Amino acid sequence: MRLLTNVLQVLVTILARWNYFNTGDPFSEWHRQYEGLAFIDIDFVEICKKCKDVLAVGETAVYKGHYDKKFRITQRVAESLKVLGFLIFYELNNENKIVKFRYRIINPVRDHNYHILEPNQFVKMLHELHLSHEKFNCKRSKK
Ligand SMILES: [Zn+2]
Repeated sequence: MRLLTNVLQVLVTILARWNYFNTGDPFSEWHRQYEGLAFIDIDFVEICKKCKDVLAVGETAVYKGHYDKKFRITQRVAESLKVLGFLIFYELNNENKIVKFRYRIINPVRDHNYHILEPNQFVKMLHELHLSHEKFNCKRSKK
């Protein structure tokens, strides 16, 4: 629990220092006016439903033919939490439904190649992440 508290303090500190992209929402605008402060939002935090541990963090974006998305701070958060970090692009069809994922790992190693998965394959990968957590690390799993 103390480790989790320390990690959360690091997370809050990191998030408080960085704010690059948030425009338009009242909190971001309020925060931006104070010199010396910065924060970012993190797009994706996968958690265990049982114990609420963070399993992975990531940045997400719609794929538009190129991979253009900042992820350095999210990578640092993943590193601090000692969880997987993802950079995830998803393709949409005409009905705004996700039809494909392109992702790469940004923590614990930085994978330079994108993996292309169908939505059901991506879900399977996330389920495997949960199963591994439940088997080895979950504090609430009956094992
Ligand atoms: Zn758990």
